[in-house]
Amino acid sequence: MVRIAGETLHVFFLGTAGALPTTNRNPPCIMVRHGSQTLLFDCGEGAQQQMMRARTGFAVDAVFISHWHADHFLGLFGLAHTLSFMGRTEPLAVYGPEGVHEFSELVRRLSRFTLGFPMHAAELKPGSEVRFPSFTVTAFGTQHGMPGIGFVLCEDARPGRFNRERAIELGIPPGPLFGRLQRGETVSVVRNGEAVAIPPDQVLGPPRPGRSVVYTGDTRPIHGQIGEVGRGADLLIHDATFEDADADRAREVFHSTAGEAGEIAAALGVQRLALVHISSRYTSAGNHVRDAKKKYGGEVTAPSDLTVIELPFRE
Ligand SMILES: [Zn+2]
Ligand SMILES: [Zn+2]
Repeated sequence: MVRIAGETLHVFFLGTAGALPTTNRNPPCIMVRHGSQTLLFDCGEGAQQQMMRARTGFAVDAVFISHWHADHFLGLFGLAHTLSFMGRTEPLAVYGPEGVHEFSELVRRLSRFTLGFPMHAAELKPGSEVRFPSFTVTAFGTQHGMPGIGFVLCEDARPGRFNRERAIELGIPPGPLFGRLQRGETVSVVRNGEAVAIPPDQVLGPPRPGRSVVYTGDTRPIHGQIGEVGRGADLLIHDATFEDADADRAREVFHSTAGEAGEIAAALGVQRLALVHISSRYTSAGNHVRDAKKKYGGEVTAPSDLTVIELPFRE
């Protein structure tokens, strides 16, 4: 079986704290690396040092900010300075809800006009899509007492499995034509002195769904807003600021409990759930995992900072 080399998909939990950092958890920052593309979802204070510790490098293509609470964006000031210091000249895209243009202008002004690269800000609304070469990031509205958005990264479907035996039967010589068929191109071979066109569907199985990751940012549970685009995601990264015992407090301050995150994971039918934005009031996230598991039968973790999850292809 010949297979197209697929893009790897890694999620780096660079910051998993709630509003206040602790000695173990940094403010929110999730890096998603898809092949050679690197995105940050939120960029809390200290993000650049976490990138050093995780050895990810600084080649960030775009930053998505969920909302304008300081724990979600303060890291961009330092990161922008470092990128400039290191000689970056490529533009950096910064996406966020209403206010993102003022924010990027502020970063530029605080850099005293020495930022060596342009920062391209773009405001996203629920339903906005940002297209990358092999995936799309779609924004959805959150419920956090202020304008906010969450994100679904959705990889394009991959071509179906290539049937090598069938290709050889059809008279296609192993070699470059195999690759072209796998990329979805029609090829032609000479049979009995005549050119015969062979479309890819004769040697490819049905398309295989791409992988997807949902990041909610800070929010009350919002199953409806995430919607179809997040259904069956490979990974749901959900606000789980509080244990279920503190559900009243979660409602008051527009956050979710771990059990509520579990309910959303179950409703969306995701493959696994990561609980983040853990409040500094807790010394362990053990109860969070327990609470989420009461509502959701899949894999639940409360990743510590610097945890890396690789999401394999679905077969
Ligand atoms: Zn927060
Ligand atoms: Zn917040």
